Amino acid sequence: MYKLGIDLGGTNIVAGVVDDEYKILAKAECKTNIPRPAESVCDSMAEVAKQAAEKAGVNWDDISSVGIGVPGAVNPVTGIIAYSANLLFKDWEIVKMMEERLGKKVYIENDANAAAYGEFLAGSAKGATNAIAVTLGTGVGGGIIINGKIYSGSNFAGAEIGHMVIVKDGKPCGCGRKGCWEAYASATGLINLTKEEIEKEDPETSVMKKLAEKEGNVSGRTAFDAMRLGDEGGKKVVNEYIDYLACGVASIIHIFQPDVLCIGGGVSKEGDNIILPLREKVAGEIYKGESSCLQTKICVATLGNDAGIIGAACLENLY
Ligand SMILES: [Zn+2]
Repeated sequence: MYKLGIDLGGTNIVAGVVDDEYKILAKAECKTNIPRPAESVCDSMAEVAKQAAEKAGVNWDDISSVGIGVPGAVNPVTGIIAYSANLLFKDWEIVKMMEERLGKKVYIENDANAAAYGEFLAGSAKGATNAIAVTLGTGVGGGIIINGKIYSGSNFAGAEIGHMVIVKDGKPCGCGRKGCWEAYASATGLINLTKEEIEKEDPETSVMKKLAEKEGNVSGRTAFDAMRLGDEGGKKVVNEYIDYLACGVASIIHIFQPDVLCIGGGVSKEGDNIILPLREKVAGEIYKGESSCLQTKICVATLGNDAGIIGAACLENLY
């Protein structure tokens, strides 16, 4: 049998057929094109799901179930999306609507949780029992796997690790609080740190300013690119950014002591430039306990956007 996973994003809808070895056989996609009625979004999801099956050469009858990863407050038990800021929907009976269209059992999960589950099944956290996936994007997303199951709290709204405060009365966060980890460790946080440093530099000689002008804007890569050119300002920003990243990672490790903590999202593409100093900084901040104890492996998430599709497709394993 095969499974089908759908990643319902604010920009794109991507469906993928997944085999028993967690390999994606084929994908199909379309634009999400919101705002539009929920029925119409469901029609598009059903369409790309069928297209993916066709591309994979898999008979629809050989697909056991469909899973959907959705940004927002997702209740997998009732099958209802209470609220999704990205998709502008409230109280959306998505499971009912999709089961009508697909004639299959449909499961839903928050997209960050689905991606963490994908990394746990088939990516950087494969073989772990307890794992945490951190995604560094516009915000800081998180997924928690405990004993092979997604942990999202009693109300399915847990795992919001990005909103753990690391600086009391610190920088404002989109959630309304101040000093959240997300305000510092997200790609947005990195861009802000870079801009602040550029402001302090001599505009005539600032390497980061020149790089930003060449690219058209300050990005999450600006400071890393400057660092690679040997620029002191770039090194300073990268170092400061990884300090903030390490602060949150060390706290997460203290709470969960997972086997694996993987880092994904755009910024993670820097690979060893982030992971090696991060490991060093975290090692300096955590309790060692018995030196023979298992220490959390910190690594880069390996599946990229496919993690969400694989995790969603395999949600049936959890029920
Ligand atoms: Zn926050």
